[in-house]
Amino acid sequence: MQRPEFELIDWIRGQVRDRGTVSLGIGDDAACLKPNPDRELLVATDMLMEGVHFEFSSATPQQAGRKALAVNLSDIAAMGGRATAAFVSVALPSDRGMQFARDVHTGLIELANDHDVILAGGDTNSWNGPLVINVAVLGEPWMPRPVSRKGAQPGDWLFVTGALGGSLVSGRHLNFPPRLAEAQRLVNLVEVHAMLDVSDGLAADLHHILKASRVGAILFEPDIPLTQSAKTVNDGRSPLMHGLSDGEDFELLFAVAPEAGRQLLSSWNMVTSLTRIGEISTELDCRLRRADGKMELLPPIGWTHRLGEAL
Ligand code: ADP
Ligand code: MG
Repeated sequence: MQRPEFELIDWIRGQVRDRGTVSLGIGDDAACLKPNPDRELLVATDMLMEGVHFEFSSATPQQAGRKALAVNLSDIAAMGGRATAAFVSVALPSDRGMQFARDVHTGLIELANDHDVILAGGDTNSWNGPLVINVAVLGEPWMPRPVSRKGAQPGDWLFVTGALGGSLVSGRHLNFPPRLAEAQRLVNLVEVHAMLDVSDGLAADLHHILKASRVGAILFEPDIPLTQSAKTVNDGRSPLMHGLSDGEDFELLFAVAPEAGRQLLSSWNMVTSLTRIGEISTELDCRLRRADGKMELLPPIGWTHRLGEAL
């Protein structure tokens, strides 16, 4: 069953008329606008809410601000782009004072500086409620065309950067590095057919690529890279389940032709690991190939404590 959040987004998409200046609209990690024939402009926006995406029992105000920008930079990376400018709108809790507000922005601006992103505007409000922070980021694809979720082809190899799972337990969801440099290297090395950032969990997000590309996939269970915390969380769920369904990894998941995949494996020299975790198939479903060769259907299991649950 489709999550209510995505049902609503599909409905909204149905209400919007196609316009030539928007070359990629609702449904990807970022939108792509074509203000003139030889320019593509990426736009991503994401809103974080205290109590949903972070709690101040475990996060500092700086980390909350940093994360609000980082999730958007991750979406720009997922389009094969670089980020240029950010706009930040905040609803500040009125009882927390000026230093809190400065701390939120300090965390955000430090990350912006690290990636040459200019904070170019925003909106400041206060209210008798928790912190809400929305960031919109503009960017540009490195290649003439951005990498969307659509375009994976049967036979393609599926790759993921880094390792998956346990992000909430380890606190990584507050300090993950957006994979901008990795995305730049990838699109410079090979033609990436489809890509997204894993924000809702590998199994759930892979289904977005499959749906957009009208293909299926087989994931190779023993090859899925798991974080140390996915392997050691002692909560009754297996390390594999954490790797498949925990959210907030913010790693890149992408499909490339086998030849390009071989080239990547032989030439990749960044610190961030790159792992082949499966392949695209013609059958329109997603399967998990276990270590013993047995195949299982893999539903879009994923992160479920987000805002979507309130809908
Ligand atoms: P991500 O996890 O990569 O940030 P989302 O799942 O939040 O992506 O959003 C999926 C797509 O739906 C994106 O293209 C996003 O811009 C779009 N979208 C989400 N909410 C709305 C909305 N209320 N109105 C229009 N588009 C929306
Ligand atoms: Mg995304």
